[in-house]
Amino acid sequence: MLDADLVAKTATKISLKDIQDGKVLSVKDKPNLKYAWDNGVAIGRYLAELKEGRIIGKRCHSCKRVLVPPRLFCELCWRPTDEWTYVQDTGTILTFVISHVNWDASRVKKGQRHHTPAVIELDGAGKDQAIMHLIDDIDPKDIKIGQKVQAVWKKPEERTGAITDIKYFKVIKK
Ligand SMILES: [Zn+2]
Repeated sequence: MLDADLVAKTATKISLKDIQDGKVLSVKDKPNLKYAWDNGVAIGRYLAELKEGRIIGKRCHSCKRVLVPPRLFCELCWRPTDEWTYVQDTGTILTFVISHVNWDASRVKKGQRHHTPAVIELDGAGKDQAIMHLIDDIDPKDIKIGQKVQAVWKKPEERTGAITDIKYFKVIKK
């Protein structure tokens, strides 16, 4: 028997009533938990550089790619990556979507701007080394694959060392 068949036969089915009654995906109490995590060497440096308004990757001498976000290990060549390398804050839209839902899964209201997340290949990085970010400051229907974009950064004093230190990417060449 396939795993999927076994799951179908033995799994507990969830009804709409279970969801409405709060039996599924609900937290009734607020647990007093504190979390901490380590970003690791590569992502830690990536976030620290974002705070300074720079995007950094890691070069692999074997496949000649610059991995962005940086990794200490090249998954293609099965070897440690080499030197740190800055890439540009400009790039090309590889693909994008016009989202009709907000981040909290609520529907975008009439007149409200649709979210337009995109996969952006950064200049100076390897082919298909892309990050995901928002395109803004343009009518969503005017966004096209292949357009050149540039990062719009938060002011230095507002940056926190996060990918959101880039507010969005704007189209610079249609
Ligand atoms: Zn490689």
